[in-house]
Amino acid sequence: MSLNKYNSKRDFQKTPEPHGSKTAAAASKPIFVIQKHNASHLHYDFRLEVDGVLKSWAVPKGLPEDVNDKRLAIETEDHPLQYAAFEGEIPQGQYGGGKVEIWDKGTFSNVTVQHGNQVTAAEAIKDGHLTILLEGARVSGEFTLILCKKQPDKNEWLIIKK
Ligand code: MN
Repeated sequence: MSLNKYNSKRDFQKTPEPHGSKTAAAASKPIFVIQKHNASHLHYDFRLEVDGVLKSWAVPKGLPEDVNDKRLAIETEDHPLQYAAFEGEIPQGQYGGGKVEIWDKGTFSNVTVQHGNQVTAAEAIKDGHLTILLEGARVSGEFTLILCKKQPDKNEWLIIKK
């Protein structure tokens, strides 16, 4: 269901990207990936495996490097889990046309606590406040994603390095 938007934006006769279908939930630690995407505007797509899909944000400037540094992250449509392995050239004229490269990948743990209780990553995203520990090659450590609730589209988040 959550991949309908992903599939509807793409013509799979024309793009080398994977067709979207949901995968069973991970048995081990969930994965994350950061894909450098040289589309009309260069950005970094940050994706987290949650319940068999990749929850996704486009981060124009990439993840913050310094503690308490904040970066804008625009929530985008869920992507299929297979997308974490995708690198290649999306043809010009297609949705997201341009080169995609894997910039970093690894695993993460959801460490979100609300009112003293641990909540699942899916609940934390729904509530607009997610804290994760990333273990990648280039990026590691604790990050918090916070939804900016005042804007009309409700897709702008801030990602903060803890
Ligand atoms: Mn992108």
